[in-house]
Amino acid sequence: MPELPEVEVVRAGLEPAVTGALIASVDVRDERALTRHTGGAAHFEAALTGQRISAAVRRGKFLWMPFSDDEAIVTHLGMSGQMLLRVPGAPEERHERIRIELEHPVHGPLSVVFADQRTFGSLAVDQLVDTPDGAAAGRGSNLARVPTQVAHIARDPLDPAFDVGRFRARLARTASGIKRVLLDQTVASGIGNIYADESLWAARIHPETSASALPTRAVNRLLGEVRAVLDKALAEGGTSFDAQYVNVNGQAGYFAHSLNAYGRTGQPCPRCARPIVRVSFMNRSSHFCPHCQRLR
Ligand SMILES: [Zn+2]
Repeated sequence: MPELPEVEVVRAGLEPAVTGALIASVDVRDERALTRHTGGAAHFEAALTGQRISAAVRRGKFLWMPFSDDEAIVTHLGMSGQMLLRVPGAPEERHERIRIELEHPVHGPLSVVFADQRTFGSLAVDQLVDTPDGAAAGRGSNLARVPTQVAHIARDPLDPAFDVGRFRARLARTASGIKRVLLDQTVASGIGNIYADESLWAARIHPETSASALPTRAVNRLLGEVRAVLDKALAEGGTSFDAQYVNVNGQAGYFAHSLNAYGRTGQPCPRCARPIVRVSFMNRSSHFCPHCQRLR
């Protein structure tokens, strides 16, 4: 599943291609890719044709392209969605759902293809509303306007406007396990299963530690590790762990080479050499070192 670093790779790849581009035409080939759009394929195509995209913006795992101060195309990649950049007339992609033909003032004609194997992802035209704190809504634009479908999502820990005080306060008043809280997109966005496991390993915190039991020092250490892990993954182009994830040019990321805990069941902990264990967690798994990450 694409997480923040993977989505940022997609955003950064789309940015130069879509910013300032005119939407020449839109072809919805599978209406299942519009489950979050109100109005159907004909409405989606008509709403976008002739509009000019001003930016490619991301908050957490959500990506959007404003085409005015009031409206944007919102992309949910879901489990397996891809935004692929192609030359005009490129052959149909596997699992292609929507193709947007752009006319860019510098690069000329380009195609943006939304492909999705499992159909949990979607595109939608959405209204933009003011951000409550007046800060830029996400990475990629100074516009303090966020799509309504993204407004309930907290800022991610790499966002300059991320509210550390609010994050600490949310942890202090919940007794749930810290990993569950880290995955709650209303607490902080963009931390998925892989990066939660990696951050908790780095901060030496057991995933089931009650969030409210963490002293401020531990919370600060954890937040620092979350940021370091996400930054590192960004620098390496996201994880290649998920074979369905590819960036805008169809190339897989490389972060899987750097994983310390996630997916390393039975292998030695890079810190203490004792085996990493896996336990089931919310239909998925948690990976941690029972020696370095003790439940107190
Ligand atoms: Zn260890």
